[in-house]
Amino acid sequence: MNKVVEFMKAEKLKPKPDPTALQFGKHFTDHMFVLDYSQDRGWHSPRIAPYEPLTLDPASLVFHYGQAVFEGLKAYRSPDGRVLLFRPEQNVKRLNDTCKRMCIPPLDEEAVLEGLKQLIEIEQDWVPDQEGTALYIRPFIVATEPYLGVRPSNAYKFLIILSPVGAYYSSEQLSPVKIYVEDEYVRAAKGGVGHVKTSGNYAASLLAQKKAQELGYDQVLWLDAKEKKYVEEVGSMNIFFKINGEVITPELNGSILKGITRQSTLELLDHWGIPVREERVSMIDLYQAYQKGELEEVFGTGTAVVISPVGELNWNGRKMVINQFKTGELSYKIYDSITNIQYGKQHDPFGWTV
Ligand code: PMP
Repeated sequence: MNKVVEFMKAEKLKPKPDPTALQFGKHFTDHMFVLDYSQDRGWHSPRIAPYEPLTLDPASLVFHYGQAVFEGLKAYRSPDGRVLLFRPEQNVKRLNDTCKRMCIPPLDEEAVLEGLKQLIEIEQDWVPDQEGTALYIRPFIVATEPYLGVRPSNAYKFLIILSPVGAYYSSEQLSPVKIYVEDEYVRAAKGGVGHVKTSGNYAASLLAQKKAQELGYDQVLWLDAKEKKYVEEVGSMNIFFKINGEVITPELNGSILKGITRQSTLELLDHWGIPVREERVSMIDLYQAYQKGELEEVFGTGTAVVISPVGELNWNGRKMVINQFKTGELSYKIYDSITNIQYGKQHDPFGWTV
């Protein structure tokens, strides 16, 4: 590989955590990728440096007005020992889309991918090989200019940190989740920032998530901000429904994040010849389909879990138990296909893995 990035090796390497007891986002590797932005030099000084705390001015704009963006993807260990990334160029592209919305200068996508690959190559021993485990990759940008006026920062830091993560499901069985349909708080409105990955979206979601958990639910189903009639997303996942043999997912409407697992699911279904529609989905139509016995499967899609089957929806006290709280056939089929491609266990007809 062409070594374009400066590498400053950590003096002391950390012991690796027990691969059978990994929790999400608790352990971090020895090194991180760093890139700086200044007005006169643009994005400059790409380097791989020891993982360590940052020193930032307390007036840094990110602390006050939240100009911060991020991405999330994983590196997977294949049975023959290779390390694979799943559609990383899509994450870098989405990062740039997010930057555009948040007035952050765009990154050179090729250079970021190259830096990411070099970081993963250096940290390859951190990619766990236990079933279902992976190395989570967190690229992010923060505004670092010390200034208290509300305007885009003139200085930024882009970093990529890495964290080995455990299997989401403890066995081959995917466990269905209970979902509370939230009709008080909203996640995002059209014209806002819900379609991009900026940190404030997640801060704004915490209270509804807390409320759902207090009511005995795992996650929130978000409705549209204007009428609270149409389905948007579930937790931090996109959502799919199988109704009377047809697959439907809410169309990208300006307040829904364009998930890469969502896109991959759409492409897989198309490849299999299974009809799928991207359109507005109303709660009342869903409830009616449920009453007619036609709501066959509901599942969320996202990098963390791939597929998360929904076993129950509570909409204003109207409870819908989906598929007798069992994971449906289609959910399994999509989960198996995507994970087999991610882990290099099956031929990748789409060229998704790198
Ligand atoms: N929606 C939101 C709000 C998310 O944070 C995520 C996770 N990135 C997703 C959907 C799923 O996106 P992806 O499939 O790219 O992980």
